[in-house]
Amino acid sequence: MKKEKEIKKTESIKWELSPAPESTGHISLKAKYDLFIDGKWVKPSSGKYFDTINPANEEKLAEIAYANASDVDKAVKAARKAYSNIWSKISPSERSKYMYRIARMIQERAREFAVIETLDGGKPIRESRDVDIPLAANHFFYYAGWADKLEYAFPNRKVESLGVAGQIIPWNFPLLMASWKIAPALACGNTVVLKPAETTSLTCLKLAEIIEESGLPAGVVNIITGFGDTGAAIVNHPDVNKVAFTGSTGVGKIIQRTVSNTEKKLTLELGGKSANIIFEDAPIDQAVEGIINGIFFNQGHVCCAGSRLFVQEGVADEVIQKLKNRMEHLYIGDPMDKNTDIGAINSKEQLETIKKYLKIAKNEGNKIIESSCNTPSKGYFCKPTLILDVAQSSTLVQEEIFGPVLTIQTFRTVDEVIQKANNTPFGLAAGVWTDKGSKIFNLTTKLRAGVVWANTYNKFDPTSPFGGYKESGFGREGGVHGLEAYLKI
Ligand code: NAP
Ligand code: MG
Repeated sequence: MKKEKEIKKTESIKWELSPAPESTGHISLKAKYDLFIDGKWVKPSSGKYFDTINPANEEKLAEIAYANASDVDKAVKAARKAYSNIWSKISPSERSKYMYRIARMIQERAREFAVIETLDGGKPIRESRDVDIPLAANHFFYYAGWADKLEYAFPNRKVESLGVAGQIIPWNFPLLMASWKIAPALACGNTVVLKPAETTSLTCLKLAEIIEESGLPAGVVNIITGFGDTGAAIVNHPDVNKVAFTGSTGVGKIIQRTVSNTEKKLTLELGGKSANIIFEDAPIDQAVEGIINGIFFNQGHVCCAGSRLFVQEGVADEVIQKLKNRMEHLYIGDPMDKNTDIGAINSKEQLETIKKYLKIAKNEGNKIIESSCNTPSKGYFCKPTLILDVAQSSTLVQEEIFGPVLTIQTFRTVDEVIQKANNTPFGLAAGVWTDKGSKIFNLTTKLRAGVVWANTYNKFDPTSPFGGYKESGFGREGGVHGLEAYLKI
């Protein structure tokens, strides 16, 4: 108890910071965006457009074309033509030249991309600037290097490209997810039809502008926007050879059923409910930062968010008290402010989903602790929230919330925490915090998770494969493994 008081006393100062908004003077946004098909900007055949808004102030940013099945067909035909006539024929080193060019152009326009990503999606500018955009460029650099070395990636095996890849991405890391998908596909000699999510199309459309300027042959990358049945039209198109989907488990299951009686190759990167495990011998302050980063980074809109915390009993009080203190010091609000830690929830629908889970927590009688901060009156915001005394069988522990909400459970033994951590339908990631290397290695072999971070969390690198077990999907993106998804081997 004494210790808790001491912690409270020393860590209770929160500085009032002057606003430090990033400027928007250097960005260019059109009022209306068409579809990028066969190297040209074409009007949607339905003539329909939809609005994309800034979730931090609910203001309209631009109008986006809605692609229907006939537009998807045009895009697939363009991709097929580009594949047969050009992309599968040019030398691999030529392919990498284009990819290096695209990577450098993303870097040159990094500030513009970061600002647009934040305006359109609500994530703090610090994240778009320091994580999303540099990593997106790095994926192009990394896979550009592989284009002419595929025989070294898979020695003594014959590798062939697949053809046309249909790629569908979610709203949480728009440019980054597009780069995760486009870069390995191009490096392996495939052409692409990509669809971003309804609420966050802008940076993918800016990427299309770069692709156009880069001189990449027409049709090699087609970017079509839409919602609802646009994605399904890509999946259903008979001339698509490969479907790469990142999104929710629910939609992933529909896609798997659709593709199951075809010859299409499929990778699914789906939802998660990842465990962050803190042992008594962990460096506690570092672990607390890791927990905060694990769940509050990008408002918890991270598939691999450390959304379930497991703390060993002996340090539970200390960790929870420190978490509460740290949570009080987070800056929530304008995502364009360089000091903001937690920005806007991506959409009204997503905010409602999160609220639905908070209501369940209340009805279940769990202890709910939310930050005492104020949130802006306009826009979609959610206070960071801790849920204590929650049962393993609770909906909150079993289902993906996809918001800044952390459930906290305690454990006594290693076996107990492994059993609990593995006890959800998902298996995307996990974090382990301990002083003992042996404990880390023991857990990495027993946790059914695609990624296990040790004494850190949410670290990404293009050289490292990423993907899930169980209902978190199959196939790997990133690293050498990421090439396999785009090749016949
Ligand atoms: P979502 O609702 O599944 O949507 C993902 C994408 O699929 C969107 O572009 C969506 O289009 C499209 N889509 C919707 N219905 C479709 C259908 N029947 N056929 C084909 N495409 C369809 O997911 P979200 O809400 O955007 O994203 C959040 C989810 O993504 C979370 O579950 C998160 O864990 C997961 N995620 C996973 C990873 C990973 O690597 N494992 C990474 C990031 C996110 P519209 O929404 O525009 O209609
Ligand atoms: Mg938007």
